[in-house]
Amino acid sequence: MGYSERAVVDLGLVEQHANYLLALGGVVKPPVSSNLISVFDTASRILVVVKPIAPLRGVVQRDPRGWSIVIDKGLPRGAKRFTLFHEGFHILLELGTIQIPGPEQYLEWLADAFAARVLMPRRWLVESVKKAGDINQLCATYQVSHRAINRRLKELDLCLSPWSTSERVL
Ligand SMILES: [Zn+2]
Repeated sequence: MGYSERAVVDLGLVEQHANYLLALGGVVKPPVSSNLISVFDTASRILVVVKPIAPLRGVVQRDPRGWSIVIDKGLPRGAKRFTLFHEGFHILLELGTIQIPGPEQYLEWLADAFAARVLMPRRWLVESVKKAGDINQLCATYQVSHRAINRRLKELDLCLSPWSTSERVL
């Protein structure tokens, strides 16, 4: 993949924290409920609002009672869920729960990597791939987009069974 050493370390940290939050929320199998966002800051409430904000996908801001995350209404469901946890990563950064310095673009990339690790944990996906017939089944199980699951499979070097090859190009 050609990640720098620094990125490998940061991705490890991000994965560890994603797994920690899943455990904290008591999530043991897919699909990961959107409600998991509530454990990202247990000291304050996190309000999630869905409204049209395109071309933005999501925004997070502090408000008097905690946080509000706004997600673009026009996004498909899977993309909304991905965006929710991407924004959740920004909360963790702001709280200092995760401390990774870096340029904005790098942190945006890590936020996506984090969302992928929350919604599609490695250990689950390794098992699911053995059982799943095709990519659509994985999308339904994890409630994520084709794009998200394809990227995650590629990243983990996982392949679906040969009979689903034609599905993989979708
Ligand atoms: Zn972001």
